[in-house]
Amino acid sequence: MGVRTVGGRRGVIRKYRDWLPEIPEEAIASLGEGDTPLIEAPRLSEKIGASLYLKFEGMNPTASFKDRGMTVALSRAVAAGSRACVCASTGNTAAAASAYSARAGISCFVVVPAGKIALGKAVQVLAHGAKIIQIEGNFDAALRLSKTAAEELGNVSLVNSVNPDRIEGQKTASFEVCESLGCPPDALALPVGNAGNITAYWKGFKEWREAGLAQAAPRMLGFQAEGASPLVTGQDFESPETVASAIRIGAPASREGALAAMHESGGLIESVTDAEILAAQEALAHEEGVFCEPASAAGVAGLLKLAREGRAPEGVVVSVLTGHGLKDPDVILSRTRLPDPIPATFEALVESMRRVEPAAR
Ligand SMILES: *Cc1c(COP(=O)(O)O)cnc(C)c1O
Repeated sequence: MGVRTVGGRRGVIRKYRDWLPEIPEEAIASLGEGDTPLIEAPRLSEKIGASLYLKFEGMNPTASFKDRGMTVALSRAVAAGSRACVCASTGNTAAAASAYSARAGISCFVVVPAGKIALGKAVQVLAHGAKIIQIEGNFDAALRLSKTAAEELGNVSLVNSVNPDRIEGQKTASFEVCESLGCPPDALALPVGNAGNITAYWKGFKEWREAGLAQAAPRMLGFQAEGASPLVTGQDFESPETVASAIRIGAPASREGALAAMHESGGLIESVTDAEILAAQEALAHEEGVFCEPASAAGVAGLLKLAREGRAPEGVVVSVLTGHGLKDPDVILSRTRLPDPIPATFEALVESMRRVEPAAR
């Protein structure tokens, strides 16, 4: 424990120590998370009518932003003497918790809705040797059970984003955005599920401003999937449904934080359809070369929708791409497939190259 990464990324605890809760050096469980690229998106910028940058959180060690919060949560759990951690998850929390528990040398239990976890995320949990428990219930039921388990069983830490250490770690992404741009952006667009991340980003931007490092903070633009949009309708969803499994949540735990971020920043929380999410995922991959999972495209889907309606933000806009596209291969394979083989001849190759084949749908 207290193991360092030698060269490359330092990890968010060592980089932002003064901004985070106290963590003794020997308790740090890090995999070199954070310091993800902020990628210019010229073609999408043109469509949106603003300077769009993509904060590609798929470049974290387990390929989602959850690593930022998990390094803090697990390190603090170790410092407090926990022997195990438990979490409910739509997938990425489980993947991150499994990896950081392995790093920290404690056991990890993840509670997930049966059959609802994207393939890449389930594979990560299995690879890291965590215990995966599938329940016949949705994410919200999984979260209730995990909370109870942490309360009733000794030495077991809950590492969902209701754990404030998660929010503390995740807020470091807004510091990086401000440092990369030299100032905060005018607006920040991101997907909203359990609403921990929008809460964390807003906390980070406010702290940056309060420290005198910036005069302003961005408008927060949160987007939920239409079939799981309790913050938009004001009603919890009993059976949330969307292709964007990472934001398939009917009763967000950080509801208050999300609404405060929206109101205090003069922002908005709206919904986008699954078709809009998938179109944005494809545009990001085809036109900008950045492959993110469906949920991660909700921010760009929302910006494109606002642009169509003449309501797009102006100036410098950052969209957070929360997780890597390889997390959810089934979404791509359900829409397109590998072509049949051809003979290994030059003629067949040329003929095949000439044939303009729209991807099978
Ligand atoms: C967890 C997650 C979200 C949603 O974040 P919340 O903090 O639950 O709002 C969005 N996208 C991806 C890829 C995620 O893993």
